[in-house]
Amino acid sequence: MGAASGPPPAGSQDVPAEYRSWLEVALEEARAGRAEGGVPIGAALVGEHGRVLGRGRNRRVQDGDPAVHAETAAFSRAGRRRSYATTTMVTTLSPCWYCSGLVRQFGIPRVVVGEAGTFSGGREWLAANGVEVVVLGDERCRRLMAEFVAAEPEVWDEDIGVPPSGASG
Ligand SMILES: [Zn+2]
Repeated sequence: MGAASGPPPAGSQDVPAEYRSWLEVALEEARAGRAEGGVPIGAALVGEHGRVLGRGRNRRVQDGDPAVHAETAAFSRAGRRRSYATTTMVTTLSPCWYCSGLVRQFGIPRVVVGEAGTFSGGREWLAANGVEVVVLGDERCRRLMAEFVAAEPEVWDEDIGVPPSGASG
């Protein structure tokens, strides 16, 4: 690590190392999704002692199902739980409104986000409503999304609910 001189790099302040290791799980899912021709967003629902309860990726393209976002996939895979008080939703990209709603609906107290530059989603709303939101500013997540958005802008617009250009309303 070396002697600390000056402030740490942006995004690395006071972030527990385990958050970054959890992000690796989500990033693995995102990369697998891209390899399948899908939207490269991955997520993991992590419980006590860093146990991964469920992991998943956006499967809009693969399954033809617009309801399967990375976060909802990870949430479903975790199965039924009586309480989410000790869980953390880890996702490669800032959660959309749909997934932000899921976080609040089930009282998930913390969201760890790989990057929020491509898409800000509901993270400010989450933070304003008492959810701890930690943005890691991970360059690999950012690049994965940037490459995807550049290559398949229409699939990305579809994913975030932006109507086709020329569509009325
Ligand atoms: Zn979502």
